[in-house]
Amino acid sequence: MSPTGDFTTSQMHSRDLHRYTIDGVGRVSTSANVAMEAACPTCGEEFTYVGLHWNRGSCGYPEIPESVEERLIGILMGDGNVESRDGKNGYMRITSVTNEFLEWIKQTCPWLFTEVRVTKTPEQSREYVEDYVEDASDYTFRTIYELKTRSHPYFKHLREKWYPNNEKYFPDALDLTPEMVRMWYAADGYIASGSESLPPTIRADNEMRRPEYLRELFNEHGFDPSVGGGDIRFNGEDRDRFLKWIGDPVPGFEYKWERQSREHYDAKRAEVI
Ligand SMILES: [Zn+2]
Repeated sequence: MSPTGDFTTSQMHSRDLHRYTIDGVGRVSTSANVAMEAACPTCGEEFTYVGLHWNRGSCGYPEIPESVEERLIGILMGDGNVESRDGKNGYMRITSVTNEFLEWIKQTCPWLFTEVRVTKTPEQSREYVEDYVEDASDYTFRTIYELKTRSHPYFKHLREKWYPNNEKYFPDALDLTPEMVRMWYAADGYIASGSESLPPTIRADNEMRRPEYLRELFNEHGFDPSVGGGDIRFNGEDRDRFLKWIGDPVPGFEYKWERQSREHYDAKRAEVI
């Protein structure tokens, strides 16, 4: 069912996609988020505005599988952001320099996500950075991709838990799982330079004022990382054990798992960014 009659999915494709939003009651507005045809996982039927079906129909909102929730939390620790305003169901927005990663995330739970789209062209990235820095000539500008979830009550819950003062703040009671850390590492991880031992490292800027908290997150799982300046670094025996614990490389960010040599890592990295 199309609540607006004159808007079909194909017409929306041919327009400037990110200018249109379909909210919970089917109103089209001109900000973010785009509704696309999807099958409801509960009844199996296809809907142009599946969110409307969940909001008003008999199925209600489908439950997000626990494995997907773990992944979403890991993404939230990295490049994900959750928006939820005025007590409404929220959604998650994930940005990345590689659409391969976002397409893979989408495939892990197709009904939950809309389409991967370009949010900034290299030229738009340049304009954005030039507003903040005087000389942007040393920067490399890339296409930035974005993936949004559909609205779902789970994201309202995440927003309340992870943004106590409207800024992202990791909850005190956070029990990491390998899958969460795998997503976090894919987003904010890198192999530290300046060290021959090639230690896996996670950049945790927003939590840099809580080094003890960051260390304890991993102490609970038998790791003893060094934490300082917003970096969580896995040295010594932890180096191999850490990558083994989080599991297989993530599509689009395989290079972060490459530790044969600095040259090898750099070469693989250059293929992506
Ligand atoms: Zn249904």
